[in-house]
Amino acid sequence: MKGHWSLRGQLSVVLGGLALAILGSVGGYLGSLATDELFAAQQAVVRSTAQSAAELLASQLRDREREIELLSLSPHLMQGPLDSAAVRDSLDRRAALHDEFAWLGVTDTEGKVLQATSGMLAGRSVAQRDWFIAARERVYVGDVHEAKLLATMLPSQPSGEPTRFIDFAAPIRDADGRLRGVVGAHAHWRWITGLVDGVTRRQGASSSIDALILDREGRVLYPELLKVAQAEGQPVLPTALVNGRFEGALRFGDGRDYLTSEALLHARTNAELGWRIVARQPLEVALRPVHDLRRELLLLGVFVAAALTLACLMLARRVSRPVEELARIARRVEAEREVPEFPREPAFRELTQLSDSMRSMAQSLIETEHVLQKTNATLESQVQERTAELQAANAALEHLATRDPLTGLHNRRSLDARLDEALALDRRYAVQSGRVHGLLLIDVDHFKHINDAHGHPAGDAVLRQLAQLLLSTLRVSDLAARFGGEEFAVLLPELAGAVDAIAAAEKIRQTVEAARFGAVGRVTVSVGVSLVSPDDGDVRPLVDRADAALYEAKRSGRNTVVLKTAEPGLPPR
Ligand code: GH3
Ligand code: MG
Ligand code: MG
Repeated sequence: MKGHWSLRGQLSVVLGGLALAILGSVGGYLGSLATDELFAAQQAVVRSTAQSAAELLASQLRDREREIELLSLSPHLMQGPLDSAAVRDSLDRRAALHDEFAWLGVTDTEGKVLQATSGMLAGRSVAQRDWFIAARERVYVGDVHEAKLLATMLPSQPSGEPTRFIDFAAPIRDADGRLRGVVGAHAHWRWITGLVDGVTRRQGASSSIDALILDREGRVLYPELLKVAQAEGQPVLPTALVNGRFEGALRFGDGRDYLTSEALLHARTNAELGWRIVARQPLEVALRPVHDLRRELLLLGVFVAAALTLACLMLARRVSRPVEELARIARRVEAEREVPEFPREPAFRELTQLSDSMRSMAQSLIETEHVLQKTNATLESQVQERTAELQAANAALEHLATRDPLTGLHNRRSLDARLDEALALDRRYAVQSGRVHGLLLIDVDHFKHINDAHGHPAGDAVLRQLAQLLLSTLRVSDLAARFGGEEFAVLLPELAGAVDAIAAAEKIRQTVEAARFGAVGRVTVSVGVSLVSPDDGDVRPLVDRADAALYEAKRSGRNTVVLKTAEPGLPPR
């Protein structure tokens, strides 16, 4: 568990991450499509503003040009006297019909004003004016200029800017084509700028779109503020605009970025003015819908992401809870060793299978454990039983290995081992304790006769009874052994001296002599006695001495006890 994420955590992160990645990429893609679309739409609005303004100006200029041309062709200009009241009446009517005309007038061929609206400039000469000079030849439309002669006669502009005109003029010819004079008109510049403002106003005040009019040299004609600034030498226009047609975002002299579009004015008049209309919209206004959309998308994205995260968490919880529940149950099985209640209806099919498998696994585990515990207990008791049996068998074996089968006394091998021990003990303690071991060799007298007279089994019975007699006369610390055939040996510990050994031997001899051996009757024994000597290198000299003593006893007539001591000073044999 440690160092790994929980299932719930992993599910949450993977599902949540996946959902967010999809949301982010799809949202980002759609968002960028939509913002591109919006930006293009905004650009189109600016472009159409510029083009509409250009087209409107073109058609209006063309209309006024036609108006003047038609006027020059009217019969009372072509035929009648040009200074007649009828001419003035006609001019006044035109001026009243088209309030953009500040002045309409008729000159003679020399440039003297013969008749004019409200009689303004009548009698004055306009011989030096462009429009008069040009219109002697053909129909004329002139670029904007400041009012000269009329400036003082007309009411000044409410904005305080100088009065400006656009001039229209046409030659007056008689039926034969001879020049009679010139008809000219000054249209207010504010008429033009009003047309342009009308177009931008139609886009709505909130769009903040405005329009500039540039002349063919790229100088600002309108608006007045920029015109003045440019005249003062300030950088007003971006260089891209001065050089030609342009569409896109540009930084203007005021330091602000504008979405800009430029349209050439094709006036289709007799004279091409070469004006350009520049429509522009502050970039932050143009981008506002884009920003609004982005913000809405972001808000929507955050909301959807939150909803998705919540959904992922809930899903992860739904998946992981039953798994955690199963893990908890498994720990209970481990701790309490019993099968608890498993969830009846887990969240999905795989978990039902897992739950069923875990239940049967837990059951079989616990059953197996019970069986194992029982088997263990049985095995333990069996082991105890077998151990006891083995110990008994070992004891029996030990007995068999150390005992003589006929008499039950220690056998020769056992005696040898005890003799070695006795010798070692005496070597170590005899000097300080003053006590030594003694050895008796006991041989039945004329045993051959017993066998011969009563049979071998009777001889065996005698040997058995002799063994019992030996045991009855000896102390527990004494050791009686069958030495071989009809010979016995007795190892006596802790003897104060030879007297003790002789006493023990004598007691045996007398007990045997006094006993009755069934049909055999009386039996006697001869006994050879020896004691452990400090000179003894091993048990051999001790046995030899006892044997020699026994031989001595036989030789001296049997049924007797003889002691044979070690001869001091002699090296051990
Ligand atoms: P001695 O007084 O000189 O000892 O005479 P003996 O006849 O006792 O001595 P000998 O060594 O000549 O005879 C010993 C006899 O003991 C010979 C043998 O058959 C007999 N014998 C040895 N072992 C057994 C036994 O286990 N059972 C029986 N019944 N007889 C035995
Ligand atoms: Mg013998
Ligand atoms: Mg004998």
